Amino acid sequence: MLAVKDLNHQLAGLGTTIFTVMSALAVEHGSINLGQGFPDTDGPADVLKAAADALMDGRNQYPPMTGVTELRQAVAAANKRFYGLEVDPNTEIVVTSGATEAITASLMALINPGDEVVLIEPLYDTYVPVVRLLGAIPKLVRLTPPNWELPRAELAAAFGPKTKAIMLNTPMNPTGKIFSRAELGFIAGLLQKHDCYAVCDEVYEHLVFDGLKHIPLMTLPGMRERCLRIGSAGKTFSLTGWKIGYITADARLAGVATKAHQNLTFTSAPNLQRAVAVGLGKDDSYFAGLAGALEAKRDLMAEGLARIGFSVLPTHGSYFISADFRPLGFNGDDMAFCRYITEQAKVTAVPVTAFYDAPDAPTHFARFAFCKRDEVLLEALARLEKLFAPLTGQGPKA
Ligand code: PMP
Ligand code: GLN
Repeated sequence: MLAVKDLNHQLAGLGTTIFTVMSALAVEHGSINLGQGFPDTDGPADVLKAAADALMDGRNQYPPMTGVTELRQAVAAANKRFYGLEVDPNTEIVVTSGATEAITASLMALINPGDEVVLIEPLYDTYVPVVRLLGAIPKLVRLTPPNWELPRAELAAAFGPKTKAIMLNTPMNPTGKIFSRAELGFIAGLLQKHDCYAVCDEVYEHLVFDGLKHIPLMTLPGMRERCLRIGSAGKTFSLTGWKIGYITADARLAGVATKAHQNLTFTSAPNLQRAVAVGLGKDDSYFAGLAGALEAKRDLMAEGLARIGFSVLPTHGSYFISADFRPLGFNGDDMAFCRYITEQAKVTAVPVTAFYDAPDAPTHFARFAFCKRDEVLLEALARLEKLFAPLTGQGPKA
């Protein structure tokens, strides 16, 4: 007899993530992949060497559940160095298999079925499915381009007696928005008024441009006990495949997040954890250099896309820049556009509608990842210019 009983409704109904879809399309067409956000060069040599050494010196069995001591200490020290936060490495850090697990574990730690969770669109594509999987109700508030300002009245209206938490991503993917101290202060006020928590996805904490500063919500008055702050070695050390993430939270929250982690993965590779500890100990110039290099790539991409005729949105952090393709004369939606440039120019981007839960999202933006070598970005721009020059009449005619 064939098995016919239905499977988990949330998961069975979920599509494959856009990052996998677009990367597969890029491979199929042999295109330059500016879709999924990953650097095309390895992270720092000393961090790689530390991982290689730690593979060979007998650190290959289960590490402690909340992470190897060196990494927990390094995450605590980084919290102090960059944000002045005093953190107990023994009770307030949980090392996870990437920020992806950290997000799920943090939401698991907070949510009971029927709770409401406030989320800000556009948003990373794991947030809403996990909230629903846990039986909670997403309350979506939308930012509007080009400046993606926080609509304060709408945000306040999304909070109510059933609200348990807000999911906050700053620096924000895909907008490159850095939440200001004033915006964070407004959010903090709502959390106190409604006695709520925040899951703070700060994976791009060190990728901030234009002289702006990343401010963790956790550093604001009254927020220390309400926030689970999430970082990712993948982004901080350009090693996205390593999947080492870390949660910083008050011991009460971290303790329950640890129970989630215990049941999800229990732990992650000890040698990689040890190497990330070495990375977090690097001097300030490393972190400034990483942001500076990416800022120059942001500029290269912004100027190049504008020259081709895109209407480019500002981006102040992360790996990503989004652009409106309507000025090019393309009349289809963003998925059609991303397919079109993959097939015709051999350049792949991600449709920004993938970052919306509701069907009425704007459909005219494509997101480009600029965390690539300059020659790769220049080649991608040259290909796009060649494809669109006849349409816009700005470039050389064939
Ligand atoms: N949050 C955001 C906003 C992201 O862009 C990503 C993608 N890398 C993640 C979380 C996941 O990070 P990790 O690869 O460490 O799981
Ligand atoms: N965070 C990456 C992005 O936004 C993708 C991560 C993934 O593929 N899961 O492109």
